[in-house]
Amino acid sequence: MTRLPDPSVRPAGLADQFGRRARDLRVSVTDRCNLRCTYCMPAEGLPWMPKAEMLTDEEMLRIIGVFVRDGITQVRLTGGEPLLRRSLVDLVAGIAALEPRPKIAMTTNGVGLERVAIGLKEAGLDRVNVSLDTIDSDTFTQLTRRDRLADVEAGLKAAADAGLTPVKVNAVAMRGINDDSVADVLAWCLERGYELRFIEQMPLDAQHAWDRTQMISADEIRERLSQRWELTPLPAADRGSAPAERFLIDGGPETVGIIASVSAPFCAACDRTRLTADGQVRNCLFSTTETDLRGPLREGATDDELLGLMRGEMWRKRRGHGIGDPDFVQPDRPMSAIGG
Ligand code: SAM
Repeated sequence: MTRLPDPSVRPAGLADQFGRRARDLRVSVTDRCNLRCTYCMPAEGLPWMPKAEMLTDEEMLRIIGVFVRDGITQVRLTGGEPLLRRSLVDLVAGIAALEPRPKIAMTTNGVGLERVAIGLKEAGLDRVNVSLDTIDSDTFTQLTRRDRLADVEAGLKAAADAGLTPVKVNAVAMRGINDDSVADVLAWCLERGYELRFIEQMPLDAQHAWDRTQMISADEIRERLSQRWELTPLPAADRGSAPAERFLIDGGPETVGIIASVSAPFCAACDRTRLTADGQVRNCLFSTTETDLRGPLREGATDDELLGLMRGEMWRKRRGHGIGDPDFVQPDRPMSAIGG
């Protein structure tokens, strides 16, 4: 049986049994997406959440407010595709008005960002990460099943112009798809002043087709980049809870990050927790259980009661994601419904 937090000995805040404390809240504001990345969801999309099940802005802000008062210092908006939530600018403004004001970041595919980058910045968005796995137009169209590379490029530029900096780009390397062009993506980002981070592919696809033997590992990415640049690792002490191992490129100052989520998990330093668009708290990307906040909230729970549920969920956080364990089970929710 899971030990429940004993209020008399429990450390303050969103603590777990392994000495970690949540400071970074990832909020999935919708499970819908306008791309159909082959490694994320099927061509026909997924059965989207019914609107009635999704948190309203008011509900989302109330929950985020409770989190923020219990030690969350960064809120990252994600999805699905966060830009598809019509009220996104208002939501950002609402988060920026919370006390204490958290840092606000967003992970987006960049389609449509050109239109709203300034509005988001003015509402209080601090930073943006844009997902872009290839800069080759045909490969992009094949991979995302949509011909939108030009929109992503425009979105990135608009984000930089709006001051949503440093603009970061996230790329997943996949065997036989874009693994031979990781250095081209880095060169492209360097030319434009974007900070690139590669992420190992994880078992979070809706199709459950992930195969570890096919995964491009962090070592392999590093090796491929090293054929073009000299990479010098930054001291581990500078990393804190950041998931990316960072390298100076040809002596710096530019850097590239590699996130070895599978081959060298950073769970021991994890400071994340997650809220899904339908009001479930998840203590890990790979949780197979979650705690419902929407039901209690709609039934009139007080902030203290919501806080008790959040803390209980954090307390149950496992030591690690266990991807390599023989009994590892991929979560039922795909990445698009959890929030990446
Ligand atoms: N639509 C937004 C975007 O594209 O950034 C936010 C949600 S998306 C699920 C967040 C990130 O998760 C993207 O960078 C995407 O490449 C990444 N992702 C999706 N499935 C993944 C997987 N199986 N392993 C690793 N990263 C994955």
